[in-house]
Amino acid sequence: MTGTGPPDRRFERQVRFAPLGESGQQRLAESRVLLVGVGALGGVLAQSLTRAGVGQLVLADRDVVEESNLPRQVLFEDRHAAEGVPKVEAALESLGRIGGPTRLEAHALHVDASELPRLAEGCDLVLDGTDNLATRYLVNDHCVRAGIPWIYGGVVGGAGLVLPVLPGRGPCLRCVFREPPPPGTLPTCDTAGVVLPAVGLVASLQAGLALRVLVEPDGLEPALVELDAWSGEVRRLRAGRDEACPCCGGREFPWLERGDADHAVSLCGRNTVQVKRTGAAPDLERVGARLEAAGAAVRRAGPLLRAEVEEFVLTVFPDGRTLIEGTDDCGRAEAVYDRWLGG
Ligand SMILES: [Zn+2]
Repeated sequence: MTGTGPPDRRFERQVRFAPLGESGQQRLAESRVLLVGVGALGGVLAQSLTRAGVGQLVLADRDVVEESNLPRQVLFEDRHAAEGVPKVEAALESLGRIGGPTRLEAHALHVDASELPRLAEGCDLVLDGTDNLATRYLVNDHCVRAGIPWIYGGVVGGAGLVLPVLPGRGPCLRCVFREPPPPGTLPTCDTAGVVLPAVGLVASLQAGLALRVLVEPDGLEPALVELDAWSGEVRRLRAGRDEACPCCGGREFPWLERGDADHAVSLCGRNTVQVKRTGAAPDLERVGARLEAAGAAVRRAGPLLRAEVEEFVLTVFPDGRTLIEGTDDCGRAEAVYDRWLGG
């Protein structure tokens, strides 16, 4: 959008949208955005921001493409699933075909307390394209501490939630959901399913708010919004700031400080990874019932719960420690844990 060259035809219609305009497009072109997770929500977000002409988009994801991703993860194709391509690489390929000025940067890794500050450095906004609560609470801690806006999105089944977090204005994630529930309590896309229209609704609202925050956040009233693609209902839920919030009020950032405690550990030579998350212990009866309902073969072995899901065997201990047999890749194991136990 420099003044000297020919008019930029590519963004003509977008710039004609008065609230954006030439100056807004220029701001997008100067923006750097971190997208955590490029699967379902992340795919729609990445595509929306690339097509909108955001200057730099940093992509981070730890997983590989699988066939069961294809009905809702818009950047991936059969070929990526057949070859088990890392999601960030497949995303780079698909986004590259769109063209345009966006500079893409890809990181195939698990976003944890040591990686996140580095990835988010210099970013104007962080977008939640993840499928797990631990990463979202970590993102909330970092963004509130560093004063970076971020936009939460969550989807399961036919509906989902969106919350823009603008530090210093409106609620943070912990104002609304003080603590994450114990593992296995909430439905996940693997236990309760998910459909693309719900993903599209949630991610499109996130993308719209992303443009708004990058271009002109003043006047935006942050609120938790629920969108349901099956009932056709949209609800704006009350979401004021909680003065007693330990994060944005008390400036406590336990997910950032916890650091290595939540790391997965590959157990040498056993094709097994141990995953342990800080927080409440799971209710194994409930976890077992939910996994069974989702088609897993589940049995109790004394205090332990064993479940066969996909090509993995999960052994869940009463304290929540979980062994995932069938991989020695920690990122893969974390992804399996989050899919099935909803950490
Ligand atoms: Zn808060």
